[in-house]
Amino acid sequence: MNEKDQVIYINEEKCRNSYSCVRVCPVNAIEVKPERRHPLVIADRCIGCGLCFLSCSPRAIEFRNSIGNVMNILKSPRKSAALIAPSIASEFDDITDYRKLVGMIRQLGFTYVHEVSFGVDLVAHAYKQLFEEAHGKYYITANCPTIVEMIEKYHPGLVPNLAPSFHLWWRPPG
Ligand code: SF4
Repeated sequence: MNEKDQVIYINEEKCRNSYSCVRVCPVNAIEVKPERRHPLVIADRCIGCGLCFLSCSPRAIEFRNSIGNVMNILKSPRKSAALIAPSIASEFDDITDYRKLVGMIRQLGFTYVHEVSFGVDLVAHAYKQLFEEAHGKYYITANCPTIVEMIEKYHPGLVPNLAPSFHLWWRPPG
């Protein structure tokens, strides 16, 4: 895998070898070897928690930039939906009329604009169905990718307890 396709990687030009990232990583995903000039994030071990990013004062920890992927989707004839987090209101506090913001996002080329909490409502409905048929089985419903990565990479025995992805099993009512 190209290093820049990893969720997290180290920009060697900025790295000053303070090893703060190595110290904070909860899963020992950053390797230091004498033959390398700088530490290296091992993608297979990283869970994308971001603690190394916060710890690095020269900002040498960088993360995958998906803007190019989004631009390719917008250029394609496919329909696209922008799912915006409720926190967007604090990012664009100068835009007080939500319709203006939705219009701006659609102007970029998105077919649909939804607040992501709409999807949360759909997932909650699907989980209700799941739990009604659980028969005593426990489920982990975290929607945080770091938690899911942690379970998949370090506690694989719990993978069957991860609530399945909404699109894989949701059945419309009736
Ligand atoms: S993102 Fe988290 S798990 Fe990945 S290298 Fe950084 S500290 Fe370690």
